[in-house]
Amino acid sequence: MVASPGAWMNYLSLFQILKHGNQMECRIRRKPVIPCPGEVITYEEMCLYEGHRFSSEMNYRSSYDHGVLLMSLTPEASHCHRIESNGNTIIYEGHNAAQSQYKPIIRFMDQPMHFHAGGLTQNGLFFKAALDFRNGTSSPELVRVYEEIKSGIWIYDGLFKVVDGWQEPNPDRSVFRFRLELCSEPDPVNMRYSENWRVLPQSLKLEVWKRNEGRCSRCGSALHLRFTITQRPGSSVTPSLEDITLLCRRERSQLT
Ligand SMILES: [Zn+2]
Repeated sequence: MVASPGAWMNYLSLFQILKHGNQMECRIRRKPVIPCPGEVITYEEMCLYEGHRFSSEMNYRSSYDHGVLLMSLTPEASHCHRIESNGNTIIYEGHNAAQSQYKPIIRFMDQPMHFHAGGLTQNGLFFKAALDFRNGTSSPELVRVYEEIKSGIWIYDGLFKVVDGWQEPNPDRSVFRFRLELCSEPDPVNMRYSENWRVLPQSLKLEVWKRNEGRCSRCGSALHLRFTITQRPGSSVTPSLEDITLLCRRERSQLT
C-alpha cells in the first residue's frame, strides 16, 4: 500500500522529533492559543505560546504581527517600568548596553540606539517604530507584555500598542522610554481579551497571590489561574484588594 503525501509528512515529522528531540517537537507542534490578560503562566508556557525562547526583555517582531516585551516591577529589577492611566498605559524603559568585560558598569552607560556595527538595537527598532507611528507613516507596533511577579510566576498583561518613544536624560545617563497603550480590540490572533482588564500594580498582585496562597478563591485549585477584576466594566476607580481575585479556568467558565 502506498502512503499518501500527508502520511509521508507525518512520518517525516516523527523522524525529525526522534532525531532532534524535544526542541524540534516544540518547533513543529501546533502553537496553542495565547492566554487571556491576567492569566498566570510559567516561563515555559510563555515560550510555547510565542514559539520562542527569549534571551532578552525586548523582542521586536518576534512574530510576524507582534513583538514581545518582558518586564518585572520588583524593587530588585534592573529597569524602571511604570504603570499609568489606571492600568491602561505602561511606560516601558529600554534595555541597557550588552554586558561584556569591557563594559563593567552598564547601568551608568547611555542605553544604545545602535550596535557598533551600525544596525539598530532593540531600543532603536522600537524607537523608529514609535516615531513612524507618531509621524503618521505607519500603524502602531503591537506587543504582548509578560510580567514576572515573582520568581517563576508570570502573568500575561495583554496586547499593547507602542504609541510613543523618547530618550530621557537621567542624572547619569540617557534612557529610552516607550509609551504602551492597552489595546481595546481583541488580540487579532485568537480574538481573546477582557474588556475589564487593566494592568494591576505589582504590589497588589502580590498581595492577592499571598492572600489566596496561589490558589483559586472558589475551589482551591492551583492550575490555570487568572487574576480577575470583579469591578463593573469601565469603572474608573483603581481596583483595591477586594476588587481582585484569583479564579481557575473552570470557575471562570461559569462566569460567562
Ligand atoms: Zn477554581
